[in-house]
Amino acid sequence: MNDQPIAAGHPHGTAPIRVAESAHTVVIVGAGAAGIATAASLLAREPGLNIALIDPAHTHYYQPGWTLVGAGVFNAASTARPMREALPAGVHWIGAAVAAFEPERNAVILEGNRVVTYQQLVVCPGLKLDWQAVEGLPEALGRNGVTSNYRYDLAPYTWELVQKLRSGRAIFTQPPMPIKCAGAPQKAMYLAADHWRRASVLGDIQIEFQSAAAVLFGVSAYVPALMDYVRAYGIQLDFGHALVGVDGPARTATFHCTQADGSSALITREFDLLHAVPPQVAPDFVRASPLADAAGWVQVDPATLCHPHWPNIHALGDVANTTNAKTAAAARKQAPVVAHNVLAALGKLQGQALYDGYGSCPLTVERGKIVLAEFTYGGQLKPSFPAWLIDGTRPSRLAWLLKERVLPPLYWRGMLRGREWLARPELAGA
Ligand SMILES: Cc1cc2nc3c(=O)[nH]c(=O)nc-3n(C[C@H](O)[C@H](O)[C@H](O)COP(=O)(O)OP(=O)(O)OC[C@H]3O[C@@H](n4cnc5c(N)ncnc54)[C@H](O)[C@@H]3O)c2cc1C
Repeated sequence: MNDQPIAAGHPHGTAPIRVAESAHTVVIVGAGAAGIATAASLLAREPGLNIALIDPAHTHYYQPGWTLVGAGVFNAASTARPMREALPAGVHWIGAAVAAFEPERNAVILEGNRVVTYQQLVVCPGLKLDWQAVEGLPEALGRNGVTSNYRYDLAPYTWELVQKLRSGRAIFTQPPMPIKCAGAPQKAMYLAADHWRRASVLGDIQIEFQSAAAVLFGVSAYVPALMDYVRAYGIQLDFGHALVGVDGPARTATFHCTQADGSSALITREFDLLHAVPPQVAPDFVRASPLADAAGWVQVDPATLCHPHWPNIHALGDVANTTNAKTAAAARKQAPVVAHNVLAALGKLQGQALYDGYGSCPLTVERGKIVLAEFTYGGQLKPSFPAWLIDGTRPSRLAWLLKERVLPPLYWRGMLRGREWLARPELAGA
């Protein structure tokens, strides 16, 4: 375990300081998209603030890039950076996993029983990909045509499989909501289909979208554009179908299918390629904590992102029980809101910042074109650009350029550095 202040202006920080217990003004649990952005936004407002970021991972990933890794557009390494380089200068990185919360003591307990105390706590350890919930899936992944863009090491295998397939059946699955980037299961499918179309083998490949959802995409304004592609690629849509088992060597996938009359059945399908997306749940240590709601996610006010019982606890990113799309785009808007509200609670800023539920999903419908879904709570459309530039309900080349060229640097150099491009928070009553 290391508790290491990252020295300002020095990418590798100083030597580890080992201490039995530490106290910080702000403790952030999870140095993913949400945690680092929040730390950076806090330091942009209050340089020198005593912040500890707790995360056992030594690598930070730009997960939105994995869809393009699975399509051969990005190489995997470009989506990963050493954690040290991703962290803002001046934060204390505690390289350990949080095991429990003790909100009455203003303390988090690390694995190994070390205690870290705080004045303000920000909870953002993301969600748990529940691979084990699908029988046979953990063993099947990475061979026999079974892949998933939801894992860094497997996204390149998706591209390898897509290139090799010349005929047969390709199945793309989507688990029950909520999941991170709800569009990602179908993005993988459209990009694969586009490759097969360009390789003139599309007619020999039967594509199935086996989804536990009842509709293609949760915000109806984007569905017509997506359906044009479903028809053009000849995709079979099966709703109410949840993947429950995989037999890799036999190349079969089993689905729990809910019929319109409420009855259910198990069906087994053979495949040549299976792109599996696992069920997604709150992390176990969050689910078991007093911070969780009945479903296991951290309970927060949807606008202030503050816990209803403990005003010095805030949550954002995939772990929060808000109804926005669980995306890095949402975390980009949430982080400045949480930063402002943490500093207001410390008496350093006035007013309350509010989050409107913004989330975004760039649906890669073909190589070079994206349907850019952007919406707030309740599925209200919230485009960042005027319709003459990017009409989010239509496939757009400019939106593809945004995803491929603009969003990665916006992430690494903007969001993770406290530059709140397109993300200035609104204050209550302003
Ligand atoms: C294939 C794919 C495609 C996607 N496409 C897009 C897209 O196009 N656009 C978009 O905006 N979003 C997209 N996303 C979603 C986006 O990546 C996530 O919503 C975002 O990363 C959530 O940020 P987070 O900080 O909440 O969680 P994460 O970024 O997952 O980070 C969580 C961090 O918490 C740490 N942690 C976990 N447990 C503990 C613990 N016990 N103690 C301390 N730390 C812990 C982890 O190590 C990790 O560093 C995609 C995701 C995937 C997988």
